[in-house]
Amino acid sequence: MEAALIIRKKRDGAALEREEIFDFIQRYSRDEIPEYQASALLMAIYFRGLDARETADLTEAMMRSGQTLDFSELAQPKIDKHSTGGVGDNASLIVGPAAAAGGLVVPMISGRGLGHTGGTLDKLESIPGFRTRLSPSEFRQALAECGMALVGQTEELVPADRKLYALRDVTSTVDSIPLISASIMSKKLAEGIDGLVLDVKTGSGAFMKRIEDARALAERMVQIGTACGKRVRALITGMSQPLGWAVGNALEVIESIETLKGRGPRDLVEISRELTAHMFLLGSVDDSLDAGRARFDAVIRSGHALEKFIQTISRQSGDPRVVEDYSLLPCAQHEDSLVAWEDGYLAGLDAGTIGRASMTLGAGRDRLDSVIDPAVGLVFEKKVGDAVETGERICAIYSNDRTRVERVRQMLGDVTVIAQEPVAPPVLILDVI
Ligand code: URA
Repeated sequence: MEAALIIRKKRDGAALEREEIFDFIQRYSRDEIPEYQASALLMAIYFRGLDARETADLTEAMMRSGQTLDFSELAQPKIDKHSTGGVGDNASLIVGPAAAAGGLVVPMISGRGLGHTGGTLDKLESIPGFRTRLSPSEFRQALAECGMALVGQTEELVPADRKLYALRDVTSTVDSIPLISASIMSKKLAEGIDGLVLDVKTGSGAFMKRIEDARALAERMVQIGTACGKRVRALITGMSQPLGWAVGNALEVIESIETLKGRGPRDLVEISRELTAHMFLLGSVDDSLDAGRARFDAVIRSGHALEKFIQTISRQSGDPRVVEDYSLLPCAQHEDSLVAWEDGYLAGLDAGTIGRASMTLGAGRDRLDSVIDPAVGLVFEKKVGDAVETGERICAIYSNDRTRVERVRQMLGDVTVIAQEPVAPPVLILDVI
């Protein structure tokens, strides 16, 4: 089949046949279709969309581009979690160890930063030595030993998503319901899981700005997973301000470790607890959400979740001493501040702009070959709802290239709103599907 004809068909708004989708994806994965034709198809899908049947076919074609895993020899329930992408969203680094410490097996295939959002793989790779590329047999061994493993797509595991994910990032074709659904669900269905909890973000820092779109995305993913016999639940969660305090790769690793030590930011703890409790419920480890929440608190309090993270770092060749000594992580040369210009209450911290500000510092990619700087980023000392006094620091800016700081300070200043009246912090968990 000619790739150009498939592109034209979608460009003109027709539905693609299953064979056309499989043919395109298989040949693209084998490098037989060039990036420019894949980019054109992505853009056609972006504008014309895919219906539910086409999305399911694309998901399956992407999943079958590599191996599909089967961990049925492991006795524990295999339950994973995936976020649709946010700013400062490092919940996977807390949820994974907490869920594994609570009795689940968590085979997590994650992604890199997409657009202004951060990626779990980039965060993990800021830990010296950490390998996110494991072969399927190494992945299996890590799961058997630790109950969790955090890996990326490879030539063997969902290679189609590995290539398309990077291409979407630089062709402005990320924020599409069918493309996000197929990207996430192809990885998750290849993992050999029994169940999945999805964190579908909505708000300025998410790909789905409107809650109706987030719901449509959640419903499509739940539908695909359920049709494949998996137990799937989606939480719709707010991303109007960054999650937690830190935005930036090594900075978010530090924040995750602090959270595993029981000293995390309120919103990150709340969302991690909620997602993990739903995982326990799907895995039938607990029979109520309250029991799941209590189990989450217990594995944090006892230090078992932190131990799981340390074990995972060692198992994946990272330096576990980072947990006690943050100076072993990449560290930025310069520290600057955004301070409050008047007394009041923080009323707005636009997550989308903050994500772009952190990219401006070098924490994200804007080209396929961009190299990210793991050390740079932002750490918020105030969040929406907090009282601020003139001159108090709202945010620390960590950089290695000082020429970018003024621009970043301006971007942050433009979206930081101080009100005179008290402001309630935004609601985090908006819906469950
Ligand atoms: N996460 C993914 O894995 N894929 C997307 O497209 C968006 C978020």
